[in-house]
Amino acid sequence: QSMVQAGRPRANTTEEIARRHLLQPWPVAGSIGAEARGLIGEGDGIYVVDGEGRRLIDGPAGMWCTNVGHRNQELAGVMYEQAMALSYNTPWYTMNEPSAALAARIAAHAPGDLDHVFFTTGGSSAVETALRFMQFYNNVRGRPDKKMVVSRGGAYHGSTYLSASLNGRPRDRDWMDGADGLVVKLSCPDPFRRPAGMSVEAFRDLLVQEFRDTVERIGPDRIGAFVGEPVMASGGVIVPPEGYLPAIRDICRENDILFIADEVVTAFGRLGHVFASKDVFGIEPDMITFAKGVTSGYFPLGGVVISGALVEEMRRSNHADAMFAHGLTYSSHPVGCAVALKNLDLLENGILEHAGAIAPYFQQRLKTLEELPLVGEVRGLGLMACVECVADRESRNPLALDNEVGKRIDAHCHELGLLVRPLIHMCVMSPPLIITRDQIDDMVAILHEGISRTMDDLRAEGLWQG
Ligand code: PLP
Repeated sequence: QSMVQAGRPRANTTEEIARRHLLQPWPVAGSIGAEARGLIGEGDGIYVVDGEGRRLIDGPAGMWCTNVGHRNQELAGVMYEQAMALSYNTPWYTMNEPSAALAARIAAHAPGDLDHVFFTTGGSSAVETALRFMQFYNNVRGRPDKKMVVSRGGAYHGSTYLSASLNGRPRDRDWMDGADGLVVKLSCPDPFRRPAGMSVEAFRDLLVQEFRDTVERIGPDRIGAFVGEPVMASGGVIVPPEGYLPAIRDICRENDILFIADEVVTAFGRLGHVFASKDVFGIEPDMITFAKGVTSGYFPLGGVVISGALVEEMRRSNHADAMFAHGLTYSSHPVGCAVALKNLDLLENGILEHAGAIAPYFQQRLKTLEELPLVGEVRGLGLMACVECVADRESRNPLALDNEVGKRIDAHCHELGLLVRPLIHMCVMSPPLIITRDQIDDMVAILHEGISRTMDDLRAEGLWQG
């Protein structure tokens, strides 16, 4: 019997097939299952090629992940070799060499005593693992009530139930349920949106006091963890005020609250280091979650680095037989770990250094976009940056048609040869770390033109008078 339903013409383009059968991430109800997104056919270095054969700079490095760039022969080669040697083994009662070697290499880069690694399949499962470990840890310690998690407005931590419950970006939670009884949210540490007339230092102190007050209100014996991205990524590249993270870290330590740094974006070179917590912000978390750049996006892998002291506390507890009943079929995947080992070689042998050296140029060139009246602020750190558009600079209002502006800029830039990550009224840039000065110049020139054309459109449509 034919598999093709009678009366339905055969789908023959990728777009048609997708419209008919593919559910893509973050769909909206009105077009769910009926949407075709821009096709990407190939990638090479910092470029990708779209369905029409147009070569584009990969501005967001995929999703902040293709750190060493596309079509890296060495990563492709090691993936093939490992798959031919051992494609999979169960992590339930066997182990493989690449995962042990990778855990040791990651431990050597992690700050303080963070020396044990639990591998997952991506960032959400890494955050979920860290949170479940916190719950387990407090159960074993006889503190079953110490489970609340502190998160922040603007945060993004994933799409599994508990990790997603921490999300604090506008609209992430409008139509979605969450474990609200387990989560408490603090204000977003966005200096650009601090109260009018307030200094950044006073704003920082206000945020820190808010955390102190929250701990006092809820009670330290009910809060298990604080989870935060050192630089909030998809919330709009929010770099917190100087001194903010160390102050939060101190309050956690004083109150026996675990500090979980979500470095899914900031680790593996984005800020010029393998991990940013200590090297950039001077803090030693209790756990660090990572994913994305660990394999430069070539294989789905993530993980949590956990403090040796926490592991030791478990070993010495009165519940030596209590089980952390948590694990994924693909935990410690041999192919992913082999790719990550080679990726780490590439980062250590020049790419980290290059990323650190070129970052000031990247930031400085992007900053020039502030000359455009639609641009309220360009901010960032390392090789991550955000261009935030505003209706007018005085009130710092996002544009009234805020949904559209990022998308409009993206559409123009696409024509001109650049992929942008549109985020409401913002455009996020986080290119592959191998980007050169000339390529940065190209990227900024295209963005300048794309934003200028967007301003022309908005004026012509009577939507903006800037
Ligand atoms: N944490 C952060 C900071 C992220 O940016 C993301 C994804 O963008 C996640 C967690 C979730 O990672 P994944 O999409 O790999 O599950």
